[in-house]
Amino acid sequence: MKRKLGLIYGGKSAEHEVSLSTARAVSHAVDFDKYEVIPVYITYSGEWRKGDALLAPVESIEQLRLQRDEEKPDSIHDFLNGNGTPDIILPLLHGTNGEDGTVQGLFEVMNIPYAGNGVLASSAGMDKVVMKQLFAHVGLKQVPYVHFIRNQWKKDRQYWIDKMEHELNFPMFVKPANLGSSVGISKAVDHESLMKAVDFALKFDRKIIVEQGITAREVEVSVLGNDDPVCSVLGEIKPVATFYDYEAKYQDGSTELLIPAPVTDEVETTLKDMAIRAFKVLDCAGLVRADFFVTANDEVLINEVNTMPGFTPTSMFPLLWQNTGKSYPELINDLIELALERYEEKK
Ligand code: ATP
Ligand code: MG
Ligand code: MG
Ligand code: MG
Repeated sequence: MKRKLGLIYGGKSAEHEVSLSTARAVSHAVDFDKYEVIPVYITYSGEWRKGDALLAPVESIEQLRLQRDEEKPDSIHDFLNGNGTPDIILPLLHGTNGEDGTVQGLFEVMNIPYAGNGVLASSAGMDKVVMKQLFAHVGLKQVPYVHFIRNQWKKDRQYWIDKMEHELNFPMFVKPANLGSSVGISKAVDHESLMKAVDFALKFDRKIIVEQGITAREVEVSVLGNDDPVCSVLGEIKPVATFYDYEAKYQDGSTELLIPAPVTDEVETTLKDMAIRAFKVLDCAGLVRADFFVTANDEVLINEVNTMPGFTPTSMFPLLWQNTGKSYPELINDLIELALERYEEKK
């Protein structure tokens, strides 16, 4: 009998649209001899619905979005009551409620194996401040940063301004602590733009991280595995915009990707070693994409890891595996196998 594979996509996150593209691609690449696909769509407001449009022959992102209006909000209950409950889940979600451990917790409680990172790695990886504190703990080099929460900013704004302007130099990168796809991120070049950037980031999160801006190449690596993770070849990103912002990632196609990244053997070894250490300190499972800065004198600093990286066929994570000899369908199969392995391991 075919196993029921739940593809969960959409989600209550600023990265909802990215998830739609991923789900569309994955739904075509699944091994249909082995799996029956059960699509589950989570609306912007967090309602769970049958995502049948995902499997419809004529598909567009628009059609996937229409589901939120056309279909009854019924399926979280069906889902939880065992009516059509999947045997294994691929959570194709990014950001809030998808990449942050919350939905992973639901699957743990339901006792269903799921692909990718568990509760701890997902939530620690989602919060850039917690993530950086863990990286520091194992001696991974990174840029200096300052962080605060909305209430601290409201109560003692001048203290935080002084702290940022003393400890960091312009340009600075102001980020919501819990997001991805560059949503809410601005580059601040002076006092005035810093104030604007903080206000903007606070629209997305109560916790803000302000990082030292660095002039460096951006190099990424994909990691796959559970207890013995392995790295793909490296990829370099050459954004044409002032930084690798949301438009550059998903809309304008202007960004050039160099795969494999032209770096020295020494940089490659250091970077892969750092990626594995990052994977292990967060107790990751399944997959991670680790993002680095490589300076002009070949210093390697870790920027972040993404516990559910972009996963469309043109996203960096699968492209790096493709260039390492693993196709998109093979990668999906591996993630499912790793999920089952981990489920058995935890029993
Ligand atoms: P994603 O999860 O999609 O990779 P994100 O929202 O988690 O993105 P970051 O990767 O932290 O955000 O930053 C987005 C981009 O902003 C980076 O790829 C880089 O171009 C630029 N950037 C971020 N931090 C810095 C920094 N400290 N110095 C220079 N550039 C930076
Ligand atoms: Mg990220
Ligand atoms: Mg991300
Ligand atoms: Mg990044």
